Amino acid sequence: MIPAFELKTQYQSLADDIENAAAEVLRGGSYILGPRVRELETRIAERVGAAHAIGVGNGTDALHLALRALQIGPGDEVITTPFTFVATTEAIGIVGATPVFADIDLATFNLDPAAVEAAVTERTKAILPVHLYGQPVQMDALRAIAKRHGLAIVEDAAQAIGATFGGEQVGTLGDVACFSFFPTKNLGCAGDGGMVTTNDPSLFERVEMLRRHGGKVKYHHSELGLNSRLDELQAAILLVKEPHLDRWTEARRTLAARYNELLADVEGVVTPVEIDGVHAVYHQYTIRVEDRDAVQQRLKDAGVGTAVYYPVPLYRQEVHADLGYASGDFPQSEEAARTALSLPMFPELTHEQQDQVVEALAKALVA
Ligand SMILES: *Cc1c(COP(=O)(O)O)cnc(C)c1O
Repeated sequence: MIPAFELKTQYQSLADDIENAAAEVLRGGSYILGPRVRELETRIAERVGAAHAIGVGNGTDALHLALRALQIGPGDEVITTPFTFVATTEAIGIVGATPVFADIDLATFNLDPAAVEAAVTERTKAILPVHLYGQPVQMDALRAIAKRHGLAIVEDAAQAIGATFGGEQVGTLGDVACFSFFPTKNLGCAGDGGMVTTNDPSLFERVEMLRRHGGKVKYHHSELGLNSRLDELQAAILLVKEPHLDRWTEARRTLAARYNELLADVEGVVTPVEIDGVHAVYHQYTIRVEDRDAVQQRLKDAGVGTAVYYPVPLYRQEVHADLGYASGDFPQSEEAARTALSLPMFPELTHEQQDQVVEALAKALVA
């Protein structure tokens, strides 16, 4: 069986270092907001090129805290994509604001800037682009729209750590950015974890305060906050893994280029497009095929794991029924949800395994 993703091989390659780092934390007796979280915040801020980074409980909380820091709440609209993980709109809803969807560009699976601009109203406060599958959104166009209408940009960079647009890292392309260290993300810990990055000192201060119960001074609370902190154990693990991230990203990019080559002559497969000026990090390698579910089942029968991110666009989810969208409102997202199939992608995937995936796919398409 070739799985869609696999975490154990990577763990084993660093097992001694990770276990030693974890044991040090356990013996040290400092478990929350200790020196390792601070060191990781510095490391991520430097990597991304942002002035500030704040470790938080997970990527969903990172989004929630970023929106709260921007004072976005009831009556405000936030424009985002319907073709993403639910955490994106969950965060918008949790702060009391309204998610407003704009359709994607099918070729990149990412927000279409023209659709974003068409969705701007008097109530719009922010744009929340998701760098889906590790490819940055067309950020120059989005920034121009944000500037014209006086909107904030919150990046959902949960799938895109290390990706660049025009030479700049995701995490610095808007006002504030959100990362996830969920185990399957490109830089994953052994539980939940997240990070917020920003160049804005006031947003930094607000996120920092809100992540620990809304108070600057212990036991003095100025507003309702959250308990959402990255812990020392996760930070210690991430400090061991982070120096390997660029190598892992290169492995993903090599695999993606190889998939592109191997699939070039396979009839019925649309391979992913990397837009100009972008360095994508291939959290997923996602193709489009007709009869997707049948193809996925045939691949499974042939011992190849794949995944569908995401089968139902968010505007058609029960949780968002109150937003009043109708089936078919976002045809590009609909088409993506109908045809997207993510092939096995993780840095440790071997070229031999990849050859087998392509062979099985070619067969599954003509079966
Ligand atoms: C994983 C993910 C999140 C949420 O991150 P968690 O750490 O799991 O809370 C948010 N947005 C996107 C696009 C994601 O892939």
